Amino acid sequence: MPSISRIPVVSAQPAAVSALPGAAPKVGFVSLGCPKALVDSEQILTQLRAEGYETASSYDGADLVIVNTCGFIDAAVQESLDAIGEALAENGKVIVTGCLGAKKDGNGDDIIMKVHPKVLAVTGPHALAEVMDSVHLHLPKPHAPFFDLVPPQGIKLTPKHYAYLKISEGCNHRCSFCIIPSMRGDLVSRPIAELMLEAENLFKAGVKELLVISQDTSAYGVDVKFRSGFWNGRPVKTHMTQLVEILGQLAAQYGAWVRLHYVYPYPHVDQIIPLMSGGVILPYLDVPLQHAHPDVLKRMKRPASGEKNIERIQAWRAMNPDLTIRSTFIAGFPGETEAEFDYLLDFIKEAQIDRLGCFAYSPVEGATANLLANPVPEEVREERRGRLMMLQEDISRQRLKAKIGKTIRVLIDKVEGSGGVGRSSADAPEIDGVVYVKAPFEPHKKLVVGEFFDVTVTSADAHDLWAAA
Ligand code: SF4
Repeated sequence: MPSISRIPVVSAQPAAVSALPGAAPKVGFVSLGCPKALVDSEQILTQLRAEGYETASSYDGADLVIVNTCGFIDAAVQESLDAIGEALAENGKVIVTGCLGAKKDGNGDDIIMKVHPKVLAVTGPHALAEVMDSVHLHLPKPHAPFFDLVPPQGIKLTPKHYAYLKISEGCNHRCSFCIIPSMRGDLVSRPIAELMLEAENLFKAGVKELLVISQDTSAYGVDVKFRSGFWNGRPVKTHMTQLVEILGQLAAQYGAWVRLHYVYPYPHVDQIIPLMSGGVILPYLDVPLQHAHPDVLKRMKRPASGEKNIERIQAWRAMNPDLTIRSTFIAGFPGETEAEFDYLLDFIKEAQIDRLGCFAYSPVEGATANLLANPVPEEVREERRGRLMMLQEDISRQRLKAKIGKTIRVLIDKVEGSGGVGRSSADAPEIDGVVYVKAPFEPHKKLVVGEFFDVTVTSADAHDLWAAA
């Protein structure tokens, strides 16, 4: 039976950074349970100190309290629940960690949330990273320029007004033309609270467009079984739909856009489309389809290859007629017959993809597709790629022509002379077209990089638009 030791509210020497007057926020700590729990407490306290937090010696003096709980026997459960209740009553901002955090009641409900729904976050034992994520969220460490050489939003290589948010690393699929999983491993989703904090820091730093990226955005959270994290004091699932929903709410507060990349057409993506009508989650989906013929998709071992992609695209467009669909395709995949390639061309005609990239198959070293029968000769691969791109040029020209006369919102990337270059909801940076904007007529209205303008489309070609502010 574990001994129950209770360390009321820890008092410790302040870290060096906390010597700055008023610089360091204070955390109170209640540690219950066995020596394993004690080690967890020590690790959390060590990390807090390393990041410049102070520990408080009373509930009054703490900006937030962490309670490390025990859940081994009934008495320990009760003591933990009492300690949480006391911290809530005395301080109000409470994060709970430890064994009781992982315990459910007979109905499968989280015991702590049931008794104390006002706690800010709950984690199980040995969860240093999650506890620190919650602390950062509810009690951000102050930015001390003398100590922190990196700004809160990190070092960014993109222009100040847009940034990428990588939500996961690696991939659980094994597409036969791809070696990414062998280089980067299986899917590892980043904690949702960490992502939201990063997004908030980026918006605070002036980012007006956040581009969500990963290898497979639709799979976000699969690796952690969509476990709950916390944002703004409420539980949120590590799941694509919840992430997009709360990112949209946050972006709306800062007047920013959110754009989604690498979205595989799984059924749950349907729930994202209604979120795109408010002008924050952009009506734009980057869906890398790679092919349309079922046999080629099977040889490619593509995710969601069994989904009816034409029907899905049509349903999405019915839900939001402004939706821009970007996709990439491979021409001349090993074994691709002329009939399979024609099937792909027919698909492209029917799907009316807005933005399309096509690559001739390239045998990447280590890809299992290289072992498939009937490789397509290089000149045929290139010829098919050329044919597909010619078809797409026509489709794109028609689709962009239909925008002439419409008013669209653009984010200005560049100011040139009296005019500028911007992008609309249909244009991701670097990969899509742009909108060339003629200077506004009113002398007081000037195009500014990183700001939004409503412009009227005056002309179009196969890739870009021209518009007047
Ligand atoms: S191409 Fe396939 S295996 Fe490679 S990263 Fe994308 S989904 Fe994963």
